[in-house]
Parts: sequence; C-alpha cells; structure tokens
Amino acid sequence: MMRFEPVIGLEVHAQLLTRSKLFCACSAAFGAPPNAHTCPVCMAFPGVLPVTNRQAVEFAIRAGLAAGSTIAPSSRWARKNYFYPDLPKAYQISMYEAPICIGGALQFSADGVEKRVRLVRIHLEEDAGKSIHDAQADASLVDLNRAGVPLLEIVSEPDLRSAADAVAYLRALRSILQYLEVCDGNMEEGSFRCDANVSIRPAGSDALGTRAEIKNMNSFRSVENAIDHEIARQIEVVSGGGRVEQETRLWDADRQVTRPMRSKELAHDYRYFPDPDLPPLVVDAAWVEKVRRELPELPAARRRRFETELGLSAYDAEVLTARRDVADYYEAALARHRNPKALGNWVMESILRIVREQKLDAELCIARWPVAPGDLADLVAAIDDGTISGKIAKTVFDEMVTSGKPPRAIIAARGLVQVTDSGAIASAVDRVLAAHPDKVSEYRGGKDKLFGFFVGQVMKATEGKANPKQVNELLKERLG
Ligand SMILES: [Zn+2]
Repeated sequence: MMRFEPVIGLEVHAQLLTRSKLFCACSAAFGAPPNAHTCPVCMAFPGVLPVTNRQAVEFAIRAGLAAGSTIAPSSRWARKNYFYPDLPKAYQISMYEAPICIGGALQFSADGVEKRVRLVRIHLEEDAGKSIHDAQADASLVDLNRAGVPLLEIVSEPDLRSAADAVAYLRALRSILQYLEVCDGNMEEGSFRCDANVSIRPAGSDALGTRAEIKNMNSFRSVENAIDHEIARQIEVVSGGGRVEQETRLWDADRQVTRPMRSKELAHDYRYFPDPDLPPLVVDAAWVEKVRRELPELPAARRRRFETELGLSAYDAEVLTARRDVADYYEAALARHRNPKALGNWVMESILRIVREQKLDAELCIARWPVAPGDLADLVAAIDDGTISGKIAKTVFDEMVTSGKPPRAIIAARGLVQVTDSGAIASAVDRVLAAHPDKVSEYRGGKDKLFGFFVGQVMKATEGKANPKQVNELLKERLG
C-alpha cells in the first residue's frame, strides 16, 4: 500500500483590537445590539469615502516585525468582488498584489521539537457582516456591526505535516498576537479563526497534490479533528483510484466530518482590482523603526530566558510564557520573592486553575485576578521562612481568593503559624502514641504502612500546624 504525506497550510484571520473599524469611525467592539455600530461608510451608501485606520496599520507592522516579515514601503488596497447579503458594497477591501508584510516565519515548539513554518504574507482586510437565519420568523436577518472591522490575515506556506503541528502553530501564533496586544485570540467570539488548506502526496514526493480548503473550525480541537478527518478522507479517495477535488469543505463538528460547500473560487473569480477610493498605503522607514523599538519580548525569547536565567524546566517555561498576562503575573511575583520554582508551581497549579474556573482567561488584565502577585509572593515567602507549612498554605491561599486579604494577615488572624517548638510537637506525638497502643505494636511488628497514619494523627492533633519534618523525625525516634 502506498504511503502518503499530508501537506497543510493555514490561513488565519485575526480581528484587530482597534477601537474603531478599518475605514470608518464606528466602534469595532463585539456584542452590541444588531446594527448599532454602523454608519453610511460601512453600510456602503453611495458617494461615501473610506479613511484608513492608522492603528490597524501599526498593528499589522507590529505583527510583521514579530514574524520577521519585510514591511512593504508601499502596499495597495484592492477590491475583492463577490455578492453576499452581509456584504453591502458587494466587494471587500483587502490587499491582493501588494500586501503590507511579505515573508517571515514562525518558530515554535511542538512536543519539545523546535519547528519553523514560513509565512507567505500578512495583510489587512475588512470583515464582512453577519447573516442570521431565523427559522421561526422564516427570515434572514443581516447584522452589519462586524462589517468593516479590521482583520489581519496571516497566510503560511504549506510547511505543516500533521494536524497536531497545525494546532501547535496556531497556539504559537495566537500567543504572539496576544503578546503584541493586537488581537485577543478569542476563538469562541470569532476574533481568531482559521482555514486550513489540506492535500496529500506520496511520501517522498515534492509535488503538491490538489488541496481542499477546510472552513468552520472554531476551536483548536475542531482544527485538529477536521484536518485529521480530511487527511484520512483524501487517502481513502486516492487509494480507491479517485481524484481529490479542489473545493471548499465545511467542518461539521456534530458529525465529525468535512462536507463539500462549494467548488473553490480562484483568484480571478473575484475580479481583484486596486481600490480607486484609497491611495497606496505608504509606510515610512521611521515609523517601522519606531514600532520595532517598541516590540515587547516575544514568547519564544521569554521561554528561553525562563529556562536559562530562572532554571525552569522546558515544560514549566512553556506553560508560564504561553500567555503574556500569566508571564507578567509570574514575573511580578518573582520580583518580590525570588523562588522561581515554587512560584512557578503556585501560578501553574493554583492561579491558572482559578483563572479557568472564574473564566478570566479572556481578560488580558492581571489587575482583576483574584490574588495579587505580591500576595502570592508573600505566601511563598511565609512557607520558605518556616512561618507556615505547605499544607496550611493551601488553606491560606483559599482564603486569600475569597477574602482578598494578604496572607500574613490571614495567618495571624487565624493563628496558623507553624509549630516548630519541639516540646509541643513531642507532646503531641506522645499523646498520639499513647492513644493507639495496638497500632504501635502492629507497627513495631513490621506493618510499616502505619507510619503515615501516625503522621496524620499528629498533624490532626496540631490542627495541621506542626512542622512536618520535625513530626517525621520525632515519630521515627519514638517508634524506634
Ligand atoms: Zn461605520
């Protein structure tokens, strides 16, 4: 049987975090009542003129520089013509022959292996509106709030070879856009969406097979399942002597299959031509340099720094740098108490759990997180200086989350200071042993497992406050 190699390229549409739309002053915010964010320009009244949003252009430059693209000194807006009810102009303003960012690459790690995917281009375009099909009213409704919202389209070369790598690429890309503060990366609200071009070829061949474009994937899981399904489908078609059609297919998440939507349009179907209402987009070198100077440290660089300077494992560094807000939080805590490993564990296990539970993921703002980074640092410092045990720290942490109080205040108010007085611990040990003479003789008779029972009893007797190390030592000594 012939072996096949999948070839995958991705087109990502990222909604930019500008306040207004790409060519008018309407708000670009999500979630307003239908058609609240509209004006004659984005509703395409005759005679109106578009004006380019400078912030959107700067965001595109930022993304291009982060990916190592060439920023074109002059690019061109083009009209992409097609008819659809949610597109009142009957064309979309995009970039075709002369995009703003050319080339570049994305470097990321997938399962510990460093990967590099080349980019074809990054360009700006406006989004279309939204059609809502209301079965009850037997009507189709159009909401133009999204019409004209700025999108960044990031097109990769077909360098990906598996669905898992495609997802790793998307995660890395989303992370970079979030670091750059140009996109919130929210897939559910559609501000980060992806289409996949998938083809197969005989293993070892360099030729490209006919590709299908897969749309309608709105989670990382959908992307992975849809691509895996499409690869299997194409192998089945070709193995059965058939031919893969060039077409657009929709991912049906309920049935877990891709199904045909339409035959793929070719560029000439869109009758692209330069938009006569907009002059060439000229970006001078000084502007590009200014944006370059202001670029933040990107996730890959931060990950390496966490590994080399802080001694974190590759895994921990990856988790702590995947989101800029999490990495910022971690570094703010670290500035107050320098215990990289312990603070890393607290952030990964406790802070991220709460952020997920309280659905704060979408808020790129650590000020609103339940525990301030300085308070988390103080909690870890209290463990490190022996004030409390790690076990008590969990109780203190829970109260920090609910009350918002600093850890030292909670420890003092509830009398949680760790007992390190060996006399007090010894008397608790003696009381426990005296209360369980049968267990003591069983232990001495060889039932080693009972040691944990004694530790538990002493901790209970001291309300969890005894220093666990001292408890262990004393028990060993007494039980001989
Ligand atoms: Zn408008």
